Amino acid sequence: MSAKDTMEEFMTVDCPACSSINTKVTQKIMDIPHFPNMWLFNLICHDCKYKYTDFINLNIKEPTRFTYHAENSDDYSTKIIRASNCTIRFPKISAMIEPGPNAVSFISNIEGVLRDIQEKARFLLNDAVTEEEKQRILDFDSMIDEYIFKGLPIDVIVEDPFGNSTIVPFNPNKLETEKLSSEESERLKTSFRKF
Ligand SMILES: [Zn+2]
Repeated sequence: MSAKDTMEEFMTVDCPACSSINTKVTQKIMDIPHFPNMWLFNLICHDCKYKYTDFINLNIKEPTRFTYHAENSDDYSTKIIRASNCTIRFPKISAMIEPGPNAVSFISNIEGVLRDIQEKARFLLNDAVTEEEKQRILDFDSMIDEYIFKGLPIDVIVEDPFGNSTIVPFNPNKLETEKLSSEESERLKTSFRKF
């Protein structure tokens, strides 16, 4: 992945956290295979150090659901491009990442997203009160390890009401792309954004 084009500081944007205009805005058109028009927007506030990153897919503008049917370890390298309003679900293991006030945009792969979910589950271990709760988290933890080590079959679903997120498949035959109905789209959570 390389930056094809970079433009800096051509916009003036107030910092969403402290309203300072001492901000730096970077924009890049990312050159990603199959998705040549991914626009990366990056804001840094020099006063309060607030950072904001988002992706805008210039190709797709409709509410979209991508489903990738991973069947082996190679499939786990399938890239997931998550913009701020993206919901990622793994129905088989009842795991989900929803947009929140501090939703993070990222480019990762199936393995990376599962590791992220695993890490968040480990944090919950500190708050677990009963042995039963602790055991449930530990079981979830080792289940994720097993999925990754063995490349077990798992579906990942990426939904974005603004169509900015996407899946770059290891095997395009295992990817389904559907338009979301307006009801489905409205049910999805969105992140808080000021600009
Ligand atoms: Zn600021």
